[in-house]
Amino acid sequence: MTLRDITDRIAKAEVDAGREPGSVTLIAVSKVQPNERVEAVLNEGHRVYGENRVQEAAGKWPDFKARFDGVELHLIGPLQTNKARQAVQLCDAIHSVDRLKLAQALARLAQEEGRCPDLFIQVNTGEEPQKAGVLPNEADGFIAECRALDLPLRGLMCIPPSEEEPALHFALLAKIAKRNGLDGLSMGMSDDFERAIALGATHIRVGSAIFGARVPS
Ligand SMILES: *Cc1c(COP(=O)(O)O)cnc(C)c1O
Repeated sequence: MTLRDITDRIAKAEVDAGREPGSVTLIAVSKVQPNERVEAVLNEGHRVYGENRVQEAAGKWPDFKARFDGVELHLIGPLQTNKARQAVQLCDAIHSVDRLKLAQALARLAQEEGRCPDLFIQVNTGEEPQKAGVLPNEADGFIAECRALDLPLRGLMCIPPSEEEPALHFALLAKIAKRNGLDGLSMGMSDDFERAIALGATHIRVGSAIFGARVPS
């Protein structure tokens, strides 16, 4: 698929869901992709990208940001506290806030660095032991703790279990966001972004459908 195919499908999904055109932000997930592929999509004019590791992002994005105006970088993978400063300096959004210690570090770094990325709390909607994120029944409390730290909370993020119907997880995430007065929903990937848009996604994270299969690292 090309970027154009994906943006056409997003536009159609917005219309089908009765949503405002342009209300969904496409995060092109460039992790592990060769720089030529990323550069080709930059040259097509796309400006919002996602990476899942700080180190990898730090290796390629400062150069791209210097060469292309208006790049927005979203961290979508787990964030270790000792990488948080680098993430705050480099990223415009972090989608993986999932524990108090990290939230406290981000609050302190926001003061020190004079900037803070938009933050999404990751919710482990499938309650999978190996997956990051706060459990659904801990979400309200954690949201309140982040608000008490004055963090710029934009919304919630989830990665549904691969074997389950994602719509159930998207609906659960939307419900938790709504009852907490949050309107950002980071949900939907290459195989299910239209269903996510139907259920209210504001940010979809699409990698392989844009760039092609990831080369195994
Ligand atoms: C890799 C990744 C994606 C993109 O996955 P695709 O199936 O290639 O679209 C989305 N979200 C997260 C958190 C990822 O790590």
